[in-house]
Parts: sequence; C-alpha cells; structure tokens
Amino acid sequence: IVTKLPKVGTTIFTVMSALASEKGAVNLGQGFPDFHCDPALVDAVTRAMQDGLNQYPPMAGVLPLREAIADKVERLYGHRYDPVSEITVTAGATQGILTSVLCAVHPGDEVIVIEPVYDCYVPAIELAGGIPVFVQMEVGAAGYSIPWDKVRAAVTPKTRMIMVNTPHNPTGSVMRAADVAALADIVRGTDILILSDEVYEHMVFDGQPHESLARHPELAERSFINSSFGKTYHVTGWKVGYVAAPAALTAEFRKVHQFNVFTVNTPVQYGLAEYMKNPAPYLDLPAFYQKKRDLFRAGLANTRFELLPSQGTYFQCVKYDAISDQSEADFCKWLTSEIGVAAIPVSAFYNTPKESGIVRFCFAKKDETLQLALDRLAKL
Ligand code: PMP
Ligand code: GLN
Repeated sequence: IVTKLPKVGTTIFTVMSALASEKGAVNLGQGFPDFHCDPALVDAVTRAMQDGLNQYPPMAGVLPLREAIADKVERLYGHRYDPVSEITVTAGATQGILTSVLCAVHPGDEVIVIEPVYDCYVPAIELAGGIPVFVQMEVGAAGYSIPWDKVRAAVTPKTRMIMVNTPHNPTGSVMRAADVAALADIVRGTDILILSDEVYEHMVFDGQPHESLARHPELAERSFINSSFGKTYHVTGWKVGYVAAPAALTAEFRKVHQFNVFTVNTPVQYGLAEYMKNPAPYLDLPAFYQKKRDLFRAGLANTRFELLPSQGTYFQCVKYDAISDQSEADFCKWLTSEIGVAAIPVSAFYNTPKESGIVRFCFAKKDETLQLALDRLAKL
C-alpha cells in the first residue's frame, strides 16, 4: 500500500510512556493526571447510565451539554454561541481538530502552523490535501513567543487557515492581548479561517486571563474553537470535547462530523452536563495547577536545569545544556533509563529537525509523584 502519511510513526507520547513503564520511571512524559477525577463526576455519569441514557444521542451532542457549554463560554468570555447551531460535542479535541481541518481545507490550500506544534495538526492538514507552512516560535530569556511578523510574511493568496494553540503545548506559553491583536491584524480583510486549540483554557496562571478567541468578535466569526473535558476534569481517557464555531462553519463541520464519528457517547455527555452546573471545578483549576507548578519549579531550582516560564498548561520546559550535550531524544531516553524520570523531547514537536536542548515535563501529578521525581532529579 502507498502510505498517505509517510512521515508518521508511533507518537512520542506512546514511545516515552512505554519506556517509562519498562524502566519503572516516574512518568512525567505523556500529559495526563495520575490522580482521580471528582467522584461527583463519576456519579453523574453512572446515574445517566443507570437511568437508561445509553442509546444514540443527537448527532451534534445532547442539548443539555451544549447549553452548559454555551453558558460557560458566555460567562467566561462574553460571547454567546447558539447551542443548537454553533456547538458540537466531539470525541476529544483530536477529533475536533481533524474534523475542523477536513471540513475547511481543500487540496492545495496552505495552512500556517506554529512550531513547536502539537502532533495531530500536520497529519490532519496532510489528510485534507493541504500544505503546512511552518513558522517557528522564538525562544529567549522570557520564554517562547510567536514572531507575528513572520506569520504575516507566511500568508499567501493560498492561505486557508492559521492554527493557534493557547495555552500552548509543549512550551507552556500563553497568548496575551497583544498576540490576539496581532493575529486579528493579519487576518482582517482576508477570508483566512482560524483553528484555535484551547484545550488548556482553564490552566492559565498568575492571575492572567485566558485570551479565548471567543472574546474577540472579529476573530470568533472565523474560528473553530476546540476544547476538551479530558484536561479540565482530569479524565483524559474519556475523550470528550467540543468545537464552538459560527453557524456557517458549524454546518460544514457537522457534514464531516456525522460521517467521521456521527456522535459521542451518551451517558458521559449527560454526566458532564449535570456536573457543569457547578462552575467551581473549572474556576478552581488555575490555582490547583499553579500550586503544582510552583512545587515542581521550586524543586527543579535546586538542579542544573534552567527553567523556562510556565504561564499555562500542565507542562514545564527546561533547558538541560548545563547537564548534557545529548540530543533531546537521547537525553530523554537517558533520563528515563538512568535517572528514572520520563520527559518529552521538544524536538518531537518540530517537522524539520530542530535541537534546542529543551525537554518538557508534565506536572499533572500527585504531589508525592512530583516529589519522587524531584528526589531523583536532585542528582542533576
Ligand atoms: N491539543 C493539545 C494541545 C493537546 O495537548 C491535546 C491532548 N494532549 C489535544 C489537543 C487532544 O485532546 P483530546 O485528548 O481531547 O483529544
Ligand atoms: N496531549 C498529550 C501530551 O501532550 C498526549 C496525548 C496523546 O498521547 N496523544 O502529552
């Protein structure tokens, strides 16, 4: 068979989790919590199952969940999406992203992606027959930033979409108001669409706001905004998320969605709708993860790692050039096998080979897991 995705192998997350488990390492690689979700959420889903809510839901998702999402987005970002025509429940953000790209990108269209880039973006573009156009973030003492002049220079008459991600995996950087203004400036007067990956929307630290594109009418009107309950409610294995987009874009999205997955499992949707009535879990999330970030950073301050800022997400990037001159992938393998802590090489988020001497740790872990990792890393 002639492969459609010649550059794709097993994802780095799978590779590093397998190595971590083989070596008995503390797994700070793949991003997922090692603690339980709120039992009230499990109860809500269990109740839905016991109540017999186990058959196909509507194609776009059950209405109570779409209403709960619309209410949340309006409360936080001041923009009301119509739950009937503008919100679709997805099988996680991965499916939301693939479907957004498949419905909007035509063969030969260019899509601007900003590296380091989350692993599912480029295969989605390639499956649609689109052409990824890469712009690399810049990294300095203040951390990673998007060079908007380079994004502007990458725009051509063939540009169909720009993909952004805030808070950003893997760098932990966050788009600020000035970034959003720069993006708006670039697309104004064009018909360029935006895919905004906001799966870490409830993990922005230091009292700063999440600059959802939903806050910005000019951008919201051309954006597919993707989010994921997996991140927000500590249930990455449930694979449920949503896409909010204006009605005309949502109509195109659903044409693909209905033949891609058709719909998403019913009891989890009802359970989430019930659980979302209480805003506390997502409102408390920034403080919850900021404490973990601070604990982890305080421990790493005693090592020779150089800490980059972590403004959002549950990731902490570090430079390791004072410790080793190995490639990022080799360093991660060594760290996992010899020190007993798994990390992810940031080079895995680049399409053209790029070594920055930077690796990513995930701090979505119990405090004792973080402490165990820090005890092992203290040797460095
Ligand atoms: N986008 C980013 C930036 C992510 O980090 C992830 C999860 N690792 C996803 C999308 C996919 O989310 P989901 O698990 O809901 O498919
Ligand atoms: N998004 C997670 C991460 O960045 C991994 C999800 C996956 O394994 N595909 O670590």
